[in-house]
Amino acid sequence: MPKTQETVLEIDLKALQHNFEYLKSRITKNTKLLVVVKAYAYGSDAQEIANYLQNFEVDYFAVAYTNEGVALRDAGITKPILVLHPQPINYKTLIERCLEPSLYNFKSFNSFLEAATLENQKNYPIHIKFNTGLNRLGFNETDILTIHEKLLQSTSVKVTSIFSHLAASEDLNEKEFTLNQIQSFHSISEKFIETVGYKPMLHLCNTSGILNFPEAHLDMVRSGIGIYGFGNSEKENKHFRPIATLKSVISQIHTIEKGETVGYNRAFKSDKFMRTATIPIGHADGIGRQYGNGKGFVTINGKPAYIVGNVCMDMIMVNVTDIDCQEGDEVIVFGKQPNASHFAQSANTISYEIITAISQRIKRLIIK
Ligand SMILES: *Cc1c(COP(=O)(O)O)cnc(C)c1O
Repeated sequence: MPKTQETVLEIDLKALQHNFEYLKSRITKNTKLLVVVKAYAYGSDAQEIANYLQNFEVDYFAVAYTNEGVALRDAGITKPILVLHPQPINYKTLIERCLEPSLYNFKSFNSFLEAATLENQKNYPIHIKFNTGLNRLGFNETDILTIHEKLLQSTSVKVTSIFSHLAASEDLNEKEFTLNQIQSFHSISEKFIETVGYKPMLHLCNTSGILNFPEAHLDMVRSGIGIYGFGNSEKENKHFRPIATLKSVISQIHTIEKGETVGYNRAFKSDKFMRTATIPIGHADGIGRQYGNGKGFVTINGKPAYIVGNVCMDMIMVNVTDIDCQEGDEVIVFGKQPNASHFAQSANTISYEIITAISQRIKRLIIK
Protein backbone atom coordinates (compact mmCIF):
# COMPACT_ATOMS: atom_id res chain seq x y z
CA MET A 1 0.00 0.00 0.00
CA PRO A 2 1.67 3.27 -1.07
CA LYS A 3 1.52 6.11 1.48
CA THR A 4 -1.41 8.42 1.08
CA GLN A 5 -0.96 11.95 -0.24
CA GLU A 6 -4.32 13.34 0.89
CA THR A 7 -7.06 12.60 3.42
CA VAL A 8 -8.78 9.32 2.54
CA LEU A 9 -11.01 6.74 4.16
CA GLU A 10 -9.78 3.31 3.13
CA ILE A 11 -12.38 0.54 3.13
CA ASP A 12 -10.91 -2.94 3.50
CA LEU A 13 -13.23 -5.47 1.82
CA LYS A 14 -11.24 -8.40 3.21
CA ALA A 15 -11.97 -7.16 6.73
CA LEU A 16 -15.62 -6.77 5.75
CA GLN A 17 -15.74 -10.36 4.58
CA HIS A 18 -14.05 -11.50 7.77
CA ASN A 19 -16.63 -9.71 9.97
CA PHE A 20 -19.46 -11.09 7.89
CA GLU A 21 -18.14 -14.63 8.22
CA TYR A 22 -17.54 -14.20 11.94
CA LEU A 23 -21.13 -13.06 12.50
CA LYS A 24 -22.35 -15.97 10.37
CA SER A 25 -20.38 -18.32 12.61
CA ARG A 26 -22.28 -16.96 15.63
CA ILE A 27 -25.74 -17.75 14.23
CA THR A 28 -27.29 -21.03 13.13
CA LYS A 29 -28.04 -21.97 9.53
CA ASN A 30 -31.73 -21.36 10.18
CA THR A 31 -31.27 -17.74 11.18
CA LYS A 32 -31.24 -15.15 8.42
CA LEU A 33 -28.80 -12.25 8.42
CA LEU A 34 -29.88 -8.69 7.71
CA VAL A 35 -27.04 -6.22 7.18
CA VAL A 36 -27.74 -2.64 8.23
CA VAL A 37 -26.28 -0.20 5.69
CA LYS A 38 -27.93 3.01 6.90
CA ALA A 39 -26.01 6.29 7.09
CA TYR A 40 -23.71 5.42 4.16
CA ALA A 41 -23.05 2.00 5.69
CA TYR A 42 -21.95 3.57 8.97
CA GLY A 43 -19.93 6.23 7.21
CA SER A 44 -18.13 3.91 4.81
CA ASP A 45 -19.79 3.46 1.40
CA ALA A 46 -23.23 1.84 1.25
CA GLN A 47 -23.18 1.03 -2.47
CA GLU A 48 -19.79 -0.68 -2.33
CA ILE A 49 -20.59 -2.57 0.87
CA ALA A 50 -24.01 -3.75 -0.32
CA ASN A 51 -22.69 -4.70 -3.73
CA TYR A 52 -19.86 -6.70 -2.20
CA LEU A 53 -22.04 -8.46 0.36
CA GLN A 54 -24.76 -9.19 -2.16
CA ASN A 55 -22.52 -12.00 -3.48
CA PHE A 56 -22.54 -13.70 -0.07
CA GLU A 57 -25.43 -15.08 1.95
CA VAL A 58 -27.07 -11.83 2.98
CA ASP A 59 -30.81 -12.15 3.27
CA TYR A 60 -31.81 -8.55 3.78
CA PHE A 61 -30.40 -5.06 3.86
CA ALA A 62 -31.78 -2.26 6.03
CA VAL A 63 -31.56 1.51 5.83
CA ALA A 64 -33.16 4.20 7.96
CA TYR A 65 -34.79 6.38 5.29
CA THR A 66 -36.39 5.90 1.90
CA ASN A 67 -33.79 7.94 -0.02
CA GLU A 68 -31.05 5.62 1.27
CA GLY A 69 -32.96 2.66 -0.15
CA VAL A 70 -33.42 4.44 -3.48
CA ALA A 71 -29.64 4.99 -3.71
CA LEU A 72 -29.10 1.25 -3.21
CA ARG A 73 -31.63 0.34 -5.89
CA ASP A 74 -29.93 2.83 -8.25
CA ALA A 75 -26.65 1.04 -7.51
CA GLY A 76 -28.14 -2.27 -8.61
CA ILE A 77 -28.96 -3.85 -5.26
CA THR A 78 -31.73 -6.39 -5.81
CA LYS A 79 -32.00 -8.03 -2.36
CA PRO A 80 -34.92 -7.07 -0.11
CA ILE A 81 -34.37 -3.74 1.64
CA LEU A 82 -36.12 -2.90 4.90
CA VAL A 83 -36.60 0.83 5.53
CA LEU A 84 -36.53 1.21 9.29
CA HIS A 85 -37.98 4.69 9.61
CA PRO A 86 -39.76 5.85 6.44
CA GLN A 87 -42.02 8.89 6.39
CA PRO A 88 -45.45 8.70 4.70
CA ILE A 89 -44.52 11.45 2.24
CA ASN A 90 -42.13 8.94 0.60
CA TYR A 91 -44.39 5.87 0.50
CA LYS A 92 -45.10 6.19 -3.22
CA THR A 93 -41.38 6.22 -4.03
CA LEU A 94 -40.81 3.43 -1.55
CA ILE A 95 -43.34 1.23 -3.35
CA GLU A 96 -42.01 2.13 -6.80
CA ARG A 97 -38.52 1.05 -5.75
CA CYS A 98 -39.68 -2.17 -4.01
CA LEU A 99 -38.50 -1.06 -0.59
CA GLU A 100 -40.15 -2.59 2.46
CA PRO A 101 -41.42 -0.29 5.20
CA SER A 102 -41.26 -0.70 8.94
CA LEU A 103 -44.63 0.46 10.30
CA TYR A 104 -44.69 1.42 13.95
CA ASN A 105 -47.93 3.23 14.78
CA PHE A 106 -51.42 3.64 13.35
CA LYS A 107 -50.53 6.84 11.54
CA SER A 108 -47.74 5.15 9.56
CA PHE A 109 -49.75 1.93 9.18
CA ASN A 110 -52.96 3.55 7.92
CA SER A 111 -51.21 5.81 5.47
CA PHE A 112 -49.18 2.91 4.11
CA LEU A 113 -52.31 0.83 3.57
CA GLU A 114 -53.79 3.78 1.73
CA ALA A 115 -50.70 4.23 -0.44
CA ALA A 116 -50.44 0.51 -1.25
CA THR A 117 -54.13 0.41 -2.23
CA LEU A 118 -53.73 3.53 -4.38
CA GLU A 119 -50.78 1.86 -6.13
CA ASN A 120 -52.85 -1.30 -6.73
CA GLN A 121 -50.56 -3.50 -4.67
CA LYS A 122 -51.36 -7.07 -3.60
CA ASN A 123 -49.59 -8.54 -0.56
CA TYR A 124 -46.97 -5.80 -0.47
CA PRO A 125 -44.34 -6.84 2.13
CA ILE A 126 -44.49 -4.81 5.35
CA HIS A 127 -42.70 -5.14 8.69
CA ILE A 128 -44.40 -4.30 11.94
CA LYS A 129 -42.33 -2.91 14.77
CA PHE A 130 -43.25 -3.40 18.40
CA ASN A 131 -41.98 -1.46 21.38
CA THR A 132 -40.63 -3.69 24.14
CA GLY A 133 -38.88 -1.07 26.28
CA LEU A 134 -36.70 1.16 24.13
CA ASN A 135 -39.61 3.61 23.92
CA ARG A 136 -38.51 4.97 20.57
CA LEU A 137 -40.73 3.48 17.83
CA GLY A 138 -43.26 0.67 17.90
CA PHE A 139 -46.77 -0.59 18.50
CA ASN A 140 -47.82 -2.07 21.83
CA GLU A 141 -49.08 -5.60 22.36
CA THR A 142 -52.56 -4.18 22.95
CA ASP A 143 -52.63 -2.84 19.36
CA ILE A 144 -52.57 -6.32 17.80
CA LEU A 145 -56.35 -6.74 17.57
CA THR A 146 -56.77 -3.41 15.77
CA ILE A 147 -53.86 -4.21 13.44
CA HIS A 148 -55.59 -7.47 12.62
CA GLU A 149 -58.92 -5.76 11.89
CA LYS A 150 -57.22 -3.36 9.51
CA LEU A 151 -55.32 -6.19 7.80
CA LEU A 152 -58.61 -8.01 7.24
CA GLN A 153 -59.99 -5.01 5.37
CA SER A 154 -57.19 -4.96 2.82
CA THR A 155 -55.39 -7.36 0.50
CA SER A 156 -52.79 -4.78 -0.49
CA VAL A 157 -50.25 -5.69 2.21
CA LYS A 158 -48.85 -8.78 3.89
CA VAL A 159 -46.85 -8.84 7.11
CA THR A 160 -43.42 -10.25 6.22
CA SER A 161 -41.97 -9.79 9.66
CA ILE A 162 -42.60 -8.45 13.12
CA PHE A 163 -39.71 -7.14 15.13
CA SER A 164 -38.46 -5.14 18.08
CA HIS A 165 -35.21 -3.49 19.14
CA LEU A 166 -33.15 -4.02 22.27
CA ALA A 167 -32.23 -1.03 24.43
CA ALA A 168 -29.08 -2.24 26.16
CA SER A 169 -27.96 -5.50 24.57
CA GLU A 170 -24.29 -4.51 24.97
CA ASP A 171 -24.60 -3.96 28.71
CA LEU A 172 -24.55 -7.12 30.80
CA ASN A 173 -25.46 -5.07 33.89
CA GLU A 174 -28.82 -4.63 32.16
CA LYS A 175 -29.21 -8.32 31.40
CA GLU A 176 -32.43 -8.62 33.36
CA PHE A 177 -33.99 -5.75 31.39
CA THR A 178 -32.96 -7.34 28.09
CA LEU A 179 -34.34 -10.72 29.15
CA ASN A 180 -37.60 -8.93 29.90
CA GLN A 181 -37.61 -7.40 26.43
CA ILE A 182 -37.01 -10.84 24.91
CA GLN A 183 -39.84 -12.27 27.00
CA SER A 184 -42.22 -9.53 26.00
CA PHE A 185 -41.35 -9.98 22.32
CA HIS A 186 -42.15 -13.70 22.67
CA SER A 187 -45.50 -12.82 24.15
CA ILE A 188 -46.22 -10.30 21.36
CA SER A 189 -45.20 -12.82 18.69
CA GLU A 190 -47.44 -15.55 20.10
CA LYS A 191 -50.39 -13.22 20.31
CA PHE A 192 -49.77 -11.85 16.80
CA ILE A 193 -49.52 -15.31 15.21
CA GLU A 194 -52.59 -16.52 17.03
CA THR A 195 -54.62 -13.43 16.06
CA VAL A 196 -53.51 -13.02 12.44
CA GLY A 197 -53.34 -16.74 11.70
CA TYR A 198 -49.91 -16.97 10.06
CA LYS A 199 -46.32 -16.68 11.19
CA PRO A 200 -44.25 -13.79 9.86
CA MET A 201 -40.47 -13.74 10.39
CA LEU A 202 -39.46 -12.70 13.90
CA HIS A 203 -36.35 -10.63 14.65
CA LEU A 204 -34.97 -8.77 17.62
CA CYS A 205 -31.15 -8.77 17.86
CA ASN A 206 -28.66 -6.11 16.77
CA THR A 207 -24.91 -6.88 16.83
CA SER A 208 -24.59 -6.96 20.62
CA GLY A 209 -27.78 -8.99 20.83
CA ILE A 210 -26.26 -11.52 18.42
CA LEU A 211 -23.16 -11.83 20.59
CA ASN A 212 -24.81 -11.80 24.02
CA PHE A 213 -28.22 -13.41 23.55
CA PRO A 214 -27.98 -16.41 21.21
CA GLU A 215 -31.31 -17.66 22.55
CA ALA A 216 -32.99 -14.60 20.99
CA HIS A 217 -31.72 -14.92 17.41
CA LEU A 218 -35.15 -16.14 16.21
CA ASP A 219 -35.67 -16.10 12.41
CA MET A 220 -33.32 -13.24 11.58
CA VAL A 221 -30.73 -10.96 13.19
CA ARG A 222 -29.78 -7.40 12.22
CA SER A 223 -26.13 -6.43 12.28
CA GLY A 224 -24.64 -3.01 11.69
CA ILE A 225 -21.63 -2.17 13.83
CA GLY A 226 -20.25 -5.74 13.82
CA ILE A 227 -20.12 -5.75 10.03
CA TYR A 228 -17.99 -2.62 10.19
CA GLY A 229 -15.63 -4.15 12.72
CA PHE A 230 -16.72 -3.43 16.27
CA GLY A 231 -18.15 -5.68 18.96
CA ASN A 232 -19.47 -4.62 22.31
CA SER A 233 -16.39 -5.06 24.47
CA GLU A 234 -12.62 -5.16 24.11
CA LYS A 235 -12.90 -8.94 24.25
CA GLU A 236 -15.43 -9.10 21.42
CA ASN A 237 -13.58 -6.46 19.41
CA LYS A 238 -10.72 -8.96 19.03
CA HIS A 239 -12.93 -11.08 16.76
CA PHE A 240 -13.75 -8.18 14.46
CA ARG A 241 -11.62 -6.11 12.10
CA PRO A 242 -12.42 -2.44 11.57
CA ILE A 243 -13.04 -2.02 7.86
CA ALA A 244 -12.30 1.71 7.72
CA THR A 245 -8.95 3.46 8.12
CA LEU A 246 -8.91 7.24 8.13
CA LYS A 247 -5.58 8.52 6.84
CA SER A 248 -4.17 11.93 6.14
CA VAL A 249 -0.88 13.66 5.58
CA ILE A 250 1.24 16.42 7.12
CA SER A 251 0.73 19.63 5.12
CA GLN A 252 3.10 21.86 7.07
CA ILE A 253 5.29 21.84 10.15
CA HIS A 254 5.64 24.93 12.37
CA THR A 255 8.08 25.71 15.14
CA ILE A 256 6.36 27.47 18.01
CA GLU A 257 8.33 29.60 20.46
CA LYS A 258 7.48 29.96 24.11
CA GLY A 259 4.59 32.46 24.48
CA GLU A 260 3.18 31.94 20.96
CA THR A 261 -0.34 30.65 20.39
CA VAL A 262 -1.75 28.09 17.96
CA GLY A 263 -5.06 28.25 16.07
CA TYR A 264 -8.35 30.12 16.37
CA ASN A 265 -9.22 32.05 19.50
CA ARG A 266 -5.55 31.60 20.47
CA ALA A 267 -6.91 28.65 22.46
CA PHE A 268 -3.47 27.07 22.92
CA LYS A 269 -0.64 29.09 24.42
CA SER A 270 2.80 27.50 24.41
CA ASP A 271 4.94 27.60 27.55
CA LYS A 272 7.97 26.17 25.77
CA PHE A 273 9.48 25.60 22.35
CA MET A 274 7.54 23.03 20.33
CA ARG A 275 6.77 21.75 16.83
CA THR A 276 3.27 21.37 15.39
CA ALA A 277 2.05 19.66 12.24
CA THR A 278 -0.99 20.90 10.32
CA ILE A 279 -3.24 18.11 8.98
CA PRO A 280 -5.95 18.59 6.30
CA ILE A 281 -8.94 17.29 8.27
CA GLY A 282 -11.30 19.29 10.47
CA HIS A 283 -14.76 19.54 11.97
CA ALA A 284 -16.34 19.73 8.51
CA ASP A 285 -14.86 16.26 7.93
CA GLY A 286 -16.35 14.85 11.12
CA ILE A 287 -13.58 15.50 13.63
CA GLY A 288 -15.69 17.56 16.04
CA ARG A 289 -14.41 20.37 18.23
CA GLN A 290 -14.72 18.09 21.25
CA TYR A 291 -11.53 16.34 20.05
CA GLY A 292 -9.57 19.59 20.29
CA ASN A 293 -7.32 21.00 22.99
CA GLY A 294 -5.35 17.89 23.85
CA LYS A 295 -8.18 15.32 23.86
CA GLY A 296 -7.89 13.51 20.54
CA PHE A 297 -4.70 12.33 18.91
CA VAL A 298 -3.53 11.04 15.55
CA THR A 299 -0.67 8.63 14.94
CA ILE A 300 2.43 9.73 13.05
CA ASN A 301 5.28 7.29 12.47
CA GLY A 302 3.83 5.08 15.20
CA LYS A 303 3.61 7.81 17.84
CA PRO A 304 0.61 9.70 19.25
CA ALA A 305 0.37 13.38 18.26
CA TYR A 306 -2.25 15.24 20.30
CA ILE A 307 -4.48 17.95 18.85
CA VAL A 308 -3.25 21.41 19.82
CA GLY A 309 -5.85 24.18 20.27
CA ASN A 310 -9.24 24.23 18.58
CA VAL A 311 -10.24 21.98 15.71
CA CYS A 312 -10.70 24.19 12.60
CA MET A 313 -13.22 23.54 9.85
CA ASP A 314 -10.68 22.00 7.47
CA MET A 315 -7.60 21.41 9.61
CA ILE A 316 -6.13 20.35 12.90
CA MET A 317 -2.74 21.15 14.36
CA VAL A 318 -1.04 18.40 16.35
CA ASN A 319 1.96 18.31 18.65
CA VAL A 320 4.93 16.61 16.98
CA THR A 321 7.69 18.01 19.20
CA ASP A 322 8.92 14.52 20.09
CA ILE A 323 8.11 12.83 16.80
CA ASP A 324 10.61 12.39 14.01
CA CYS A 325 8.50 13.49 11.03
CA GLN A 326 8.36 15.85 8.08
CA GLU A 327 5.95 17.50 5.69
CA GLY A 328 4.31 14.87 3.45
CA ASP A 329 4.45 12.09 6.07
CA GLU A 330 1.40 9.88 6.50
CA VAL A 331 -0.99 10.39 9.43
CA ILE A 332 -3.39 7.78 10.82
CA VAL A 333 -6.48 9.17 12.53
CA PHE A 334 -7.94 5.74 13.24
CA GLY A 335 -7.83 2.30 11.68
CA LYS A 336 -6.91 -1.09 13.07
CA GLN A 337 -4.79 0.28 15.94
CA PRO A 338 -5.75 2.68 17.40
CA ASN A 339 -9.25 2.02 16.15
CA ALA A 340 -12.26 4.32 15.87
CA SER A 341 -13.51 3.15 19.25
CA HIS A 342 -10.26 4.25 20.94
CA PHE A 343 -10.33 7.55 19.05
CA ALA A 344 -13.96 8.13 20.07
CA GLN A 345 -13.18 7.44 23.73
CA SER A 346 -10.80 10.41 23.78
CA ALA A 347 -13.84 12.67 23.38
CA ASN A 348 -16.16 10.56 25.53
CA THR A 349 -18.17 9.18 22.67
CA ILE A 350 -18.57 5.83 20.84
CA SER A 351 -17.37 4.21 17.61
CA TYR A 352 -20.85 4.59 16.03
CA GLU A 353 -20.66 8.38 16.26
CA ILE A 354 -17.18 8.95 14.88
CA ILE A 355 -17.45 6.52 11.96
CA THR A 356 -20.84 7.81 10.80
CA ALA A 357 -19.62 11.41 11.09
CA ILE A 358 -16.87 11.13 8.46
CA SER A 359 -18.13 13.55 5.84
CA GLN A 360 -18.79 12.80 2.21
CA ARG A 361 -16.06 15.16 1.04
CA ILE A 362 -13.43 12.65 2.17
CA LYS A 363 -12.54 10.32 -0.65
CA ARG A 364 -13.41 6.64 -0.09
CA LEU A 365 -10.76 4.25 -1.32
CA ILE A 366 -11.91 0.64 -1.71
CA ILE A 367 -9.18 -1.93 -0.95
CA LYS A 368 -10.08 -5.21 -2.64
C1 LIG B 1 -29.25 0.66 13.52
C2 LIG B 1 -30.11 -0.49 13.88
C3 LIG B 1 -29.58 -1.80 13.98
C4 LIG B 1 -28.09 -2.10 13.94
O1 LIG B 1 -27.56 -2.02 15.24
P1 LIG B 1 -26.00 -2.38 15.54
O2 LIG B 1 -25.86 -2.14 16.99
O3 LIG B 1 -25.20 -1.41 14.74
O4 LIG B 1 -25.78 -3.77 15.11
C5 LIG B 1 -30.46 -2.84 14.17
N1 LIG B 1 -31.79 -2.63 14.28
C6 LIG B 1 -32.34 -1.39 14.23
C7 LIG B 1 -33.81 -1.23 14.39
C8 LIG B 1 -31.52 -0.29 14.04
O5 LIG B 1 -32.05 0.95 14.00
